[in-house]
Amino acid sequence: MGFPIKTCVVCSEEFELRPDKPGFANRCPACSAPEAEEPAAAQPVDAFDRKAQNEVNAARRKAMRDLLYRKES
Ligand SMILES: [Zn+2]
Repeated sequence: MGFPIKTCVVCSEEFELRPDKPGFANRCPACSAPEAEEPAAAQPVDAFDRKAQNEVNAARRKAMRDLLYRKES
């Protein structure tokens, strides 16, 4: 006896669907793993991004203020 044979939706490789297999039921073990890299790659941008965001917000506030003053006069 064995486990049901499934075809991986990513690489079309056949694999045994074991009850304890981590990841997606329609992906082979090799294609279930790679997504662990993503959070680490996304993190370093954060501090820089927040600073850039502040500058954008400040510029937007200034532009808004200029717009309001122009409307009044
Ligand atoms: Zn695969």
